[in-house]
Amino acid sequence: MNELSFIQFPKLRYLLIALIPLFVLTSCTTIGFHQEKIRESIPFGEKVSFRVCVIKEKGIVDQDVYSLFGAWNEELLYYQLKADPIILLETERPGFYGADILDYIINFKMPEECDRLLYLKGRTWGDIVFEVFTLGIFAGIGLKLEVQGAVEARTNTKGYIKAKYISTIQLLFTSPKSTLIHEGYHLLGCGHQLFMEECYERIRDVKLLLTDPNRDPSFFPNINSSGKKILKRPI
Ligand SMILES: [Zn+2]
Repeated sequence: MNELSFIQFPKLRYLLIALIPLFVLTSCTTIGFHQEKIRESIPFGEKVSFRVCVIKEKGIVDQDVYSLFGAWNEELLYYQLKADPIILLETERPGFYGADILDYIINFKMPEECDRLLYLKGRTWGDIVFEVFTLGIFAGIGLKLEVQGAVEARTNTKGYIKAKYISTIQLLFTSPKSTLIHEGYHLLGCGHQLFMEECYERIRDVKLLLTDPNRDPSFFPNINSSGKKILKRPI
Protein backbone atom coordinates (compact mmCIF):
# COMPACT_ATOMS: atom_id res chain seq x y z
CA MET A 1 0.00 0.00 0.00
CA ASN A 2 1.20 3.48 -0.80
CA GLU A 3 2.20 5.11 2.48
CA LEU A 4 0.72 8.49 1.66
CA SER A 5 -2.66 7.14 0.69
CA PHE A 6 -2.65 5.31 4.00
CA ILE A 7 -2.46 8.64 5.84
CA GLN A 8 -4.81 10.42 3.48
CA PHE A 9 -7.65 8.09 4.38
CA PRO A 10 -9.74 10.72 6.26
CA LYS A 11 -10.94 8.78 9.31
CA LEU A 12 -7.51 7.42 9.97
CA ARG A 13 -6.04 10.89 9.67
CA TYR A 14 -8.35 12.24 12.40
CA LEU A 15 -7.53 9.30 14.60
CA LEU A 16 -3.83 9.95 14.14
CA ILE A 17 -4.25 13.63 15.00
CA ALA A 18 -6.15 12.65 18.14
CA LEU A 19 -3.31 10.36 19.14
CA ILE A 20 -0.55 12.95 18.75
CA PRO A 21 -0.41 13.92 22.46
CA LEU A 22 -0.09 10.25 23.39
CA PHE A 23 2.68 9.83 20.87
CA VAL A 24 4.61 12.79 22.23
CA LEU A 25 4.34 11.44 25.78
CA THR A 26 5.36 7.89 25.06
CA SER A 27 8.15 8.23 22.54
CA CYS A 28 11.73 9.33 22.84
CA THR A 29 10.97 12.44 20.79
CA THR A 30 11.65 15.35 23.10
CA ILE A 31 14.57 15.49 25.48
CA GLY A 32 13.15 18.61 27.12
CA PHE A 33 12.26 22.22 26.44
CA HIS A 34 15.16 24.62 26.06
CA GLN A 35 15.58 27.41 28.62
CA GLU A 36 17.72 29.96 26.83
CA LYS A 37 18.35 32.37 29.72
CA ILE A 38 19.43 29.59 32.05
CA ARG A 39 21.63 28.01 29.38
CA GLU A 40 23.38 31.30 28.71
CA SER A 41 24.08 31.76 32.42
CA ILE A 42 25.92 28.42 32.71
CA PRO A 43 29.67 28.48 32.04
CA PHE A 44 30.48 25.58 29.72
CA GLY A 45 34.19 26.37 29.59
CA GLU A 46 36.47 26.07 26.62
CA LYS A 47 35.60 24.53 23.32
CA VAL A 48 36.36 20.81 23.38
CA SER A 49 36.02 18.11 20.71
CA PHE A 50 35.17 14.49 21.34
CA ARG A 51 35.52 11.60 18.90
CA VAL A 52 32.51 9.59 17.88
CA CYS A 53 33.28 6.34 16.13
CA VAL A 54 30.65 5.41 13.59
CA ILE A 55 29.54 1.96 12.47
CA LYS A 56 27.19 2.26 9.53
CA GLU A 57 25.00 -0.06 7.57
CA LYS A 58 25.19 -0.42 3.82
CA GLY A 59 23.35 2.33 2.00
CA ILE A 60 24.53 5.04 4.35
CA VAL A 61 27.25 6.98 2.58
CA ASP A 62 29.97 9.06 4.24
CA GLN A 63 28.19 12.24 3.17
CA ASP A 64 25.11 11.15 5.19
CA VAL A 65 27.34 10.84 8.23
CA TYR A 66 28.85 14.30 7.77
CA SER A 67 25.49 15.93 7.22
CA LEU A 68 24.08 14.28 10.38
CA PHE A 69 27.07 15.46 12.39
CA GLY A 70 26.69 18.95 10.90
CA ALA A 71 23.23 19.19 12.46
CA TRP A 72 24.39 17.75 15.79
CA ASN A 73 27.37 20.13 15.94
CA GLU A 74 25.11 23.12 15.49
CA GLU A 75 23.28 22.06 18.66
CA LEU A 76 26.58 21.35 20.45
CA LEU A 77 27.72 24.94 19.87
CA TYR A 78 25.56 25.88 22.87
CA TYR A 79 27.91 23.89 25.08
CA GLN A 80 31.26 24.67 23.45
CA LEU A 81 31.43 21.10 22.25
CA LYS A 82 32.14 19.48 18.92
CA ALA A 83 31.59 15.87 17.84
CA ASP A 84 34.17 14.60 15.34
CA PRO A 85 33.01 11.55 13.41
CA ILE A 86 35.43 8.70 12.74
CA ILE A 87 33.91 6.18 10.36
CA LEU A 88 35.06 2.79 11.63
CA LEU A 89 33.36 0.27 9.42
CA GLU A 90 30.35 -0.71 7.36
CA THR A 91 28.39 -3.75 8.43
CA GLU A 92 25.34 -5.92 7.87
CA ARG A 93 22.69 -5.46 10.54
CA PRO A 94 23.41 -7.80 13.46
CA GLY A 95 19.71 -8.51 14.01
CA PHE A 96 16.29 -7.18 13.14
CA TYR A 97 15.36 -5.46 16.38
CA GLY A 98 16.81 -2.46 18.15
CA ALA A 99 17.76 -4.72 21.05
CA ASP A 100 19.99 -6.76 18.70
CA ILE A 101 21.80 -3.59 17.66
CA LEU A 102 22.22 -2.48 21.27
CA ASP A 103 23.63 -5.91 22.15
CA TYR A 104 26.07 -5.65 19.25
CA ILE A 105 27.41 -2.24 20.23
CA ILE A 106 27.56 -3.06 23.95
CA ASN A 107 29.79 -6.02 23.09
CA PHE A 108 31.81 -4.09 20.50
CA LYS A 109 35.13 -3.11 22.06
CA MET A 110 35.52 0.63 21.73
CA PRO A 111 38.84 1.32 19.96
CA GLU A 112 41.42 3.63 21.53
CA GLU A 113 40.60 6.50 19.19
CA CYS A 114 36.92 6.62 20.21
CA ASP A 115 35.15 8.52 22.98
CA ARG A 116 31.69 7.43 21.92
CA LEU A 117 30.30 4.75 19.61
CA LEU A 118 27.39 5.41 17.27
CA TYR A 119 25.69 2.83 15.08
CA LEU A 120 23.77 4.16 12.08
CA LYS A 121 20.90 1.94 11.12
CA GLY A 122 19.74 1.95 7.52
CA ARG A 123 16.44 0.94 6.06
CA THR A 124 15.60 -2.33 4.37
CA TRP A 125 12.45 -3.71 2.75
CA GLY A 126 11.86 -5.69 5.95
CA ASP A 127 11.89 -2.42 7.89
CA ILE A 128 9.33 -0.89 5.56
CA VAL A 129 6.95 -3.81 6.08
CA PHE A 130 7.48 -3.56 9.83
CA GLU A 131 6.82 0.20 9.72
CA VAL A 132 3.49 -0.27 7.96
CA PHE A 133 2.59 -3.00 10.44
CA THR A 134 3.47 -0.89 13.50
CA LEU A 135 1.72 2.11 12.01
CA GLY A 136 -1.42 -0.03 11.94
CA ILE A 137 -0.99 -0.95 15.59
CA PHE A 138 -0.25 2.66 16.46
CA ALA A 139 -3.45 3.79 14.78
CA GLY A 140 -5.44 0.96 16.29
CA ILE A 141 -4.50 0.96 19.95
CA GLY A 142 -2.19 3.93 20.30
CA LEU A 143 0.99 1.96 20.78
CA LYS A 144 4.21 2.98 19.19
CA LEU A 145 6.47 0.00 18.66
CA GLU A 146 9.11 1.62 16.56
CA VAL A 147 12.14 3.08 18.23
CA GLN A 148 14.17 5.82 16.57
CA GLY A 149 17.29 5.20 18.54
CA ALA A 150 18.68 4.32 21.94
CA VAL A 151 21.72 4.72 24.14
CA GLU A 152 22.85 2.05 26.59
CA ALA A 153 22.45 3.20 30.20
CA ARG A 154 25.53 1.58 31.75
CA THR A 155 28.00 4.18 30.46
CA ASN A 156 25.89 6.32 28.11
CA THR A 157 28.74 6.08 25.59
CA LYS A 158 27.24 3.77 22.96
CA GLY A 159 24.07 4.23 21.00
CA TYR A 160 22.32 3.83 17.70
CA ILE A 161 19.93 5.83 15.57
CA LYS A 162 17.87 5.20 12.49
CA ALA A 163 19.88 7.16 10.00
CA LYS A 164 17.66 6.67 6.96
CA TYR A 165 14.19 7.63 7.81
CA ILE A 166 11.84 8.66 5.14
CA SER A 167 8.71 6.86 6.09
CA THR A 168 5.08 6.91 7.07
CA ILE A 169 4.02 9.07 9.97
CA GLN A 170 7.52 9.43 11.36
CA LEU A 171 8.50 12.32 9.15
CA LEU A 172 5.77 14.45 10.71
CA PHE A 173 7.51 14.26 14.06
CA THR A 174 11.12 13.48 13.63
CA SER A 175 14.08 13.02 11.32
CA PRO A 176 17.46 11.31 11.52
CA LYS A 177 19.01 14.67 12.42
CA SER A 178 16.66 15.34 15.32
CA THR A 179 17.08 11.73 16.46
CA LEU A 180 20.85 12.17 16.53
CA ILE A 181 20.52 15.43 18.46
CA HIS A 182 18.24 13.62 20.93
CA GLU A 183 20.43 10.55 21.39
CA GLY A 184 23.42 12.88 21.37
CA TYR A 185 22.15 14.36 24.64
CA HIS A 186 21.99 10.86 26.12
CA LEU A 187 25.59 10.34 24.96
CA LEU A 188 26.50 13.34 27.13
CA GLY A 189 24.76 11.92 30.18
CA CYS A 190 21.38 13.63 29.92
CA GLY A 191 18.11 11.87 30.63
CA HIS A 192 14.63 13.09 29.73
CA GLN A 193 13.23 16.10 31.50
CA LEU A 194 10.44 18.55 30.91
CA PHE A 195 12.84 21.50 31.00
CA MET A 196 16.47 21.35 30.01
CA GLU A 197 18.14 22.91 33.06
CA GLU A 198 19.14 19.56 34.56
CA CYS A 199 20.65 18.51 31.23
CA TYR A 200 22.66 21.74 30.91
CA GLU A 201 24.10 21.12 34.36
CA ARG A 202 24.90 17.53 33.44
CA ILE A 203 26.85 18.63 30.36
CA ARG A 204 28.73 21.22 32.43
CA ASP A 205 29.58 18.49 34.98
CA VAL A 206 30.74 16.11 32.25
CA LYS A 207 33.07 18.81 30.93
CA LEU A 208 34.34 19.46 34.45
CA LEU A 209 35.42 15.80 34.60
CA LEU A 210 38.08 16.70 32.02
CA THR A 211 40.10 18.05 34.96
CA ASP A 212 39.51 14.96 37.13
CA PRO A 213 42.94 13.49 37.97
CA ASN A 214 41.54 9.96 37.84
CA ARG A 215 40.30 10.07 34.29
CA ASP A 216 41.98 8.34 31.40
CA PRO A 217 43.54 11.33 29.58
CA SER A 218 42.77 9.74 26.21
CA PHE A 219 39.06 9.47 26.89
CA PHE A 220 36.33 12.12 26.94
CA PRO A 221 34.53 11.26 30.20
CA ASN A 222 30.84 10.91 30.86
CA ILE A 223 28.27 10.56 33.61
CA ASN A 224 25.78 7.75 33.16
CA SER A 225 22.01 7.91 33.61
CA SER A 226 22.27 7.05 37.30
CA GLY A 227 24.89 9.73 37.92
CA LYS A 228 27.97 7.48 37.96
CA LYS A 229 31.18 9.05 36.63
CA ILE A 230 32.62 7.24 33.61
CA LEU A 231 36.29 8.21 33.63
CA LYS A 232 37.73 5.39 31.56
CA ARG A 233 36.85 4.03 28.13
CA PRO A 234 34.37 1.20 28.57
CA ILE A 235 35.08 -2.22 27.10
ZN1 LIG B 1 15.57 9.56 24.75
